[in-house]
Amino acid sequence: MTDLLETPLQYLKGVGPRKGADLKKAGLATVEDLLYRLPFRYEDRSRMQPIASLRPGAKAAVFGEIKSAHVATTRRRGFRIFHAVLGDASGGIRCSWMNQAYLADILQPRTTVVVFGDVKLDSSGLHFLNPEFEIVSDDLSGLHVGRIVPFYERTGTVTPNMQRKLVRHALDVLPPELPDLLDPDLRARQGLMARRPAIEASHFPASEANVAELNAFRTPAQRRLIFEEFFLFQIGHAWRRHETSVEHKPHHVAVDDRIRQAAAKVLPFHLTPGQRTATKEIVDDLCLAKPMNRLLQGDVGAGKTIVAILAAMVAMENGLQVAFMAPTEILAKQHFSTIARLLSQTRFRVDLLTGSTPGMQRHTIQAHLERGTTNLVVGTHALVQDNIKFNALGLVVIDEQHRFGVAQRAALQEKGLRPDVLLMTATPIPRTLALTDYSELDVSKITGLPPGRKPVRTWVKPESRRDEVYDLLRAEIEKGRQVYVIYPLVEESEKVDLKSATEMADHLQAEVFPGRRVALLHGRMKQDAKDHVMQAFMSGAVQVLVSTTVVEVGVDVPNASVMVVEHAERFGLSQLHQLRGRIGRGEWDSHCILLYQAPWSDDARERLKTMAETNDGFAIAERDLELRGPGDFFGTRQSGLPKLRTGDLVRDRDIMEEAHREARHLVETGLSPALTAFVRDKWDAQFGLIQVG
Ligand code: ADP
Ligand code: MG
Repeated sequence: MTDLLETPLQYLKGVGPRKGADLKKAGLATVEDLLYRLPFRYEDRSRMQPIASLRPGAKAAVFGEIKSAHVATTRRRGFRIFHAVLGDASGGIRCSWMNQAYLADILQPRTTVVVFGDVKLDSSGLHFLNPEFEIVSDDLSGLHVGRIVPFYERTGTVTPNMQRKLVRHALDVLPPELPDLLDPDLRARQGLMARRPAIEASHFPASEANVAELNAFRTPAQRRLIFEEFFLFQIGHAWRRHETSVEHKPHHVAVDDRIRQAAAKVLPFHLTPGQRTATKEIVDDLCLAKPMNRLLQGDVGAGKTIVAILAAMVAMENGLQVAFMAPTEILAKQHFSTIARLLSQTRFRVDLLTGSTPGMQRHTIQAHLERGTTNLVVGTHALVQDNIKFNALGLVVIDEQHRFGVAQRAALQEKGLRPDVLLMTATPIPRTLALTDYSELDVSKITGLPPGRKPVRTWVKPESRRDEVYDLLRAEIEKGRQVYVIYPLVEESEKVDLKSATEMADHLQAEVFPGRRVALLHGRMKQDAKDHVMQAFMSGAVQVLVSTTVVEVGVDVPNASVMVVEHAERFGLSQLHQLRGRIGRGEWDSHCILLYQAPWSDDARERLKTMAETNDGFAIAERDLELRGPGDFFGTRQSGLPKLRTGDLVRDRDIMEEAHREARHLVETGLSPALTAFVRDKWDAQFGLIQVG
């Protein structure tokens, strides 16, 4: 027989083609899929209580047979109660379910059932009120009661109870030993069980197993399977990293005094120590034979742009072209004007290419890029279009990289021949995620902010205290500062939100700041209207900018020192942090006011509280990850997260760290043929990933 684990489930006893197709649709195609879908919880039913021994006020599980049942009507119209009497060898007890008359069809007399809930006492004796129940066929009762019982997520039309039976069948026909990708040395080092008993005990734990430990996914059996999954995941990453480290780029970069001087000349200020270290790490990478794959991380306002510009100078001085991609048009324009200004005294030609670049101009830029006469191009994702070609693209810079999908980043990279890649982000990668996708990247961190910055002060206020907020805004504008008022824009209510943003702008202009200029900015405006508003705000002609989140990333107007976020309860934590990063960029005291409207959820309260407590982007990202879970953390566009069957990136972080270490170690010493084959043939499919870069 071929490997039973690879057998399609439809050939398993009790499945068949129909159910097989259902299971497949729900992601369970083979016996292995079934066995690696672990229970999500376990219940100790090893000691079912005899009914005669029940006492009021305690939780109890009872296994018995429905003796009689009926639906009772009540005086309240349409409100009915389903009553049943459950009996076992020791006696009987009443069970009642409010307003669930349909149970009459399910819990018919003679049905065997496990009932679980609080035992209550009233004038007519003991009873269960609205208990949980599970129908358990008599012949298989050894599976469902009298032991620690596994509970599975419902899979398509396959009920948890059916899954329990299928898993049992599969385990019964599984050979006593299974091939194992984890070799004996590794298992001994990590104290891991063999594969076969780990699978058995993760589904049907021995009766002496610790239920609390099971539900925390920390038994030796569960740990073995989670480790296995993480280790296989890490092996793929470690292997790729190892492979690309031996690839050479076609160009050669060197730095001499002339280049150092040229770079120093464009510098408008002294670098902070953090910027200096990061610049050195990046330039060192540029000079290596293997392509750079580096993430530059620095909190909002840390000054990442100048570091990228210095790297670009080195590349251009070596005859290479640079592509600088930003997620929004506003940001691309801002970068373009900064870079064009700084490079105005150099011989390098800088261009801007975005979705709204007019056709004629686009053709010219395209031609220059292809000939190599444009040295640096700043743009949005318009840069990845097919007809954009480079002569010698040597460095790719991707700002706010988490805003781009893996495919977009790769597409830009492919326009060069193994170019150096610099990804930039203010969103710190929480430790958990640092071990996924990002483990293939080298990381430079800019710690510390440019001199003279004062921490932003943050207040959380109910919307009803708006007048106080306006007083503060007036005072700040009086001192010459500028103000952002941010409106949420969620797709479902886009129209309503736009309307309220527009109305707010009118209201602020007419009633609150009649002597000042208030302007409105949102994503639906025409590009030149947006440019116009942004320009007016940057120049200081507009004092109050009412905006949707189009200013969220990267925008840099140091004179703006106050931000009011309307409906702050609707924003995500990382988003609020990014928004707040727009202020506190100058030498003045800055204020961020988060206005909320009740009712707010516990999560929203938690988010705003976190914002008020800390300015530390790393702490905020960790908290955000906890609140949202890793899948949502980077939004749907970020597809670097693996599909996991047994492990959980947050819960099992410690196991991931171990697996990461072991995988790095093993790749250095050489993989077994079986592991090599796994990485080559199965890795992508199992984890559902496309690689970064
Ligand atoms: P971010 O890391 O958020 O992308 P920017 O690169 O936009 O930050 O820099 C934020 C602001 O700080 C800009 O106005 C920039 O000119 C200024 N800045 C950056 N580095 C320094 C420095 N070393 N000294 C003074 N100002 C700096
Ligand atoms: Mg930036």
